[in-house]
Amino acid sequence: MPIVIYNTLSGKKEEFAPIKKGRIGMYICGPTVYDEPHIGHARSAYTFDVIRRYLEYRGFKIKFVRNVTDVDDKIIDKARLAQSTLKEVSEKYLKAYHDDMDVLGIKPPTDEPKATEYIKEMIKFIDGLIKREAAYQSGGDVYFDIKKAKNYGKLSGQNLENMESGARVVHGENKKDPLDFALWKAVKLDEPSWDSPWGKGRPGWHIECSVMSSKILGDAFDIHGGGLDLIFPHHENEIAQFEGAGKKFARYWIHHGLLTINGEKMAKSAGNFVTIKDFITKHKNADYLKLLFLGVHYSHPVDYTEEKIEEAKKSYERFIILFHKLDEKFGTRDFKKLPDANRGDVDRFKEKFEIAMNDDFNTPVALSVLFNMVNECNKILSDDSDGKRFMLQYAMKAIIELSDILGLSFKNIKQEKSDIWISGAIVLREQLRKEKKFKEADEIRKELEAKGIILEDTKDGTTWRRKIF
Ligand SMILES: [Zn+2]
Repeated sequence: MPIVIYNTLSGKKEEFAPIKKGRIGMYICGPTVYDEPHIGHARSAYTFDVIRRYLEYRGFKIKFVRNVTDVDDKIIDKARLAQSTLKEVSEKYLKAYHDDMDVLGIKPPTDEPKATEYIKEMIKFIDGLIKREAAYQSGGDVYFDIKKAKNYGKLSGQNLENMESGARVVHGENKKDPLDFALWKAVKLDEPSWDSPWGKGRPGWHIECSVMSSKILGDAFDIHGGGLDLIFPHHENEIAQFEGAGKKFARYWIHHGLLTINGEKMAKSAGNFVTIKDFITKHKNADYLKLLFLGVHYSHPVDYTEEKIEEAKKSYERFIILFHKLDEKFGTRDFKKLPDANRGDVDRFKEKFEIAMNDDFNTPVALSVLFNMVNECNKILSDDSDGKRFMLQYAMKAIIELSDILGLSFKNIKQEKSDIWISGAIVLREQLRKEKKFKEADEIRKELEAKGIILEDTKDGTTWRRKIF
């Protein structure tokens, strides 16, 4: 079955066919490292993590490049404020980014180029553009000449004349046309800078991604991705640079929708800024955030609210209860020990999941298929007829496999004594107590106690602690 991807460049869904059979080159615009990563960064990284995981599941070998912008006005300002260096600031926040990606369970990229390590290559690329008369030097700056880009506006669907009418030259810039953009910026006082044929300075942002992507993936590669806010001007300018150099560039452009909080743009000044660390400190489990994201197609905006996280928690608990029921019924968390057969039903679920993911990575539908499987297993577990039970081993394996494609971490639930496992047992115990099955509920308490986990019922619910011997 082919995979269909919405390509921003063509404005329609296209059948995906990589340049080299079985291999994919993918470039994602990564973080500018000057602050703690927030949940908008989480959505971006997670969107492409799921796309990557699905493409890998479909058998593709992927070179997954995600850059780091480690020279930029914001980083320079931060360094100035903190009386620190560019390098110290960027290293500090890159570490924070890596730590957060780790907590979220995002696979590391195969390549992670840093802008400051590619300055020489950027100078060479800019020099090539000047020689082809697609760029010009003005003072110590170098600008891309927008008039030389034949198809400018094709990615963002804008026309050059309309754009010209709204554009103004900012004071201090030496451009011929207000839409011309900087490839190289002359050094300002006490800024970090590098030597170049045009004097000391630093590269512009757009040239950075064009050079790093093509250096690692080759001039023409398969997928270029980022947030919707990068379509213009960042990605539009990247395309212009490549066409200016007479080269082919990325073929499929994937953009994800942005994140709001309670319907509003997230901003420190608005006091609604949620970092990934804030989220994890409060909710302890990255899967809740992931379930919220999965429920919305990646191309749409997602609105974060605490109520939606509570709903995501409830969805999560449906999985946890299943794992506990299995354990109760068969006395094992090892799926290999479960009875097995009747693969047909499970395969039909898997097929539906794949159909959804093949259709431009439609995670809301894929997730609902996964929930249907969980419900089906729960039903079978509540039903005592042996014949039906026989699909469990294969079904559970499939649930874990498909959850893994979506980057959900249920496989950890199999680990004894993990925190997720304990909170799952508490959820199940509460449910049994609601159903007035006090004997069964008490057995869960005893079972946990035997493993050194003490439950404490308070008016705000049940908490737990490890027994100290
Ligand atoms: Zn970029």
